[in-house]
Amino acid sequence: MSDSEQELGITESKEHATGEWYAELVQKAGLADYAPMGGFIVTRPRGYAIWERIQNHLDGWFKDTGVQNAYFPLFIPESFLEREKDIVEGFDPEVAWVTHGGYEELEERLAVRPTSESIIAPFMAQWTRSHRDLPLRLNQWCSVVRWEATETKPFFRTKEFLWQEGHTAHHDEEDAFEETMTRLDQYARLYEEVMAMPPLKGRKPPHDKFPGAHTTTTVETLMPDGKSVQAATSHYLGTSFAEAFDITYVDENEDEQVAHTTSWGLSWRAMGALIMTHSDDQGLVLPPALAPKQVVIVPIWQEENKEEVVGYAEEVAEDLDAAGVRVHLDDRENRNPGFKYNEWELKGVPLRIEIGPHEVEDGEVTLVHRPDGESETADRAGIAETAREHLDTVYAKLYASAEETLEGEIREAESREEILGTIGQHGGYVKCGWCGDEDCEDPIKEAIAAEIVMVPLDRDEEPIHDECAICGDEAEETAYFAKSY
Ligand code: AMP
Repeated sequence: MSDSEQELGITESKEHATGEWYAELVQKAGLADYAPMGGFIVTRPRGYAIWERIQNHLDGWFKDTGVQNAYFPLFIPESFLEREKDIVEGFDPEVAWVTHGGYEELEERLAVRPTSESIIAPFMAQWTRSHRDLPLRLNQWCSVVRWEATETKPFFRTKEFLWQEGHTAHHDEEDAFEETMTRLDQYARLYEEVMAMPPLKGRKPPHDKFPGAHTTTTVETLMPDGKSVQAATSHYLGTSFAEAFDITYVDENEDEQVAHTTSWGLSWRAMGALIMTHSDDQGLVLPPALAPKQVVIVPIWQEENKEEVVGYAEEVAEDLDAAGVRVHLDDRENRNPGFKYNEWELKGVPLRIEIGPHEVEDGEVTLVHRPDGESETADRAGIAETAREHLDTVYAKLYASAEETLEGEIREAESREEILGTIGQHGGYVKCGWCGDEDCEDPIKEAIAAEIVMVPLDRDEEPIHDECAICGDEAEETAYFAKSY
């Protein structure tokens, strides 16, 4: 390999220098660049294409289940933000403020939305009159800004991030809670079916709920380095926002009732988790459903058989394209096949088809799987179906390996030392009895920066142990401790 070819490849090791490897991969695979302002990134077309596919899946499911998209302003007047006190307190340290318009100082500061409850709820109040106006389900795809104090990392934690935020209003708690779970299940489905990652579903402990929420539910995914990622959240907000913003309706008996609301969001952190989970030292690995190109065809020719080989490859590409497979034919003259293999491996194309004079002669193709390099020869006839089968196999391999990462990574502990030792040694999740007091999380947080990432969804589930592993008082819940991104 020449120097310039070497520079193309990843030089850091995922296992030994995960952070450096991730930063290098994101840039070299052409997903993102660092913006001039710390904590911000530029999303390149290849990265954005993955986000668009995530968007398309979720957006379709939302619409199938009664959600309509809308768009609200980027700015929120300070007085609106102040109407729900928990939101102000919760987000205050992270809000970016606009104080001037041109040279004029504004009469009222404008918050750059850190989340949009405070600008959406007043309109939900206007649009909700009678019980017939409910449920009201809105979603917007946008970016929000949170001036994060913790270290930022492309996609995982940025000061401006792309996301969707759903906001709904319902007649009662039962309806609103069902909505909360519908969205959580759709997030879990996205991870499982599209991203080839097995998720855990749970509830955030009370001290880590979304500001103003009654219940915050979460999807957590485990990274190969043993850290958990809060991969999406769905909140049942009770009546706190409805009361603050007057979302009321007249019921069948002409009585005025306060609505129950929800909000739910998935950000491009999902892409961070995806990259971290499947990719390797050769570069990006993508599940077929999200790959901008699912198949790359690399023809291997000599001068004397070029026309024949490239012609055959073109026909294979046409067949795949006609069948709706996203295919790219790499027939560049100035690059050798080895270079092309490396480049498409770096960029994460799930399936490579190699076509040389032997394949042409035998009426075959050679298929190579990106995740493990496994290769197989197949008949040229029925190529579209064969390619689909192989793409399904690639998905299955990715899912199986992510599942293996999670398997055995949920351990139990009965004392503070055991929690510290187990997470310190293995990473992963440690579940234990917990009294429900935030103070009991502190010593773990201070010692190894692990925290309670979730408790079981079902409030009535008996704790796994009778006593809190930290203070020894009676346990109220089972806590899942983990380090997290
Ligand atoms: P929240 O509104 O706080 O519940 O956030 C919704 C989701 O957005 C979370 O579950 C995270 O996955 C994601 N998220 C929160 N903060 C950031 C950030 N700074 N960068 C990227 N994603 C984020």
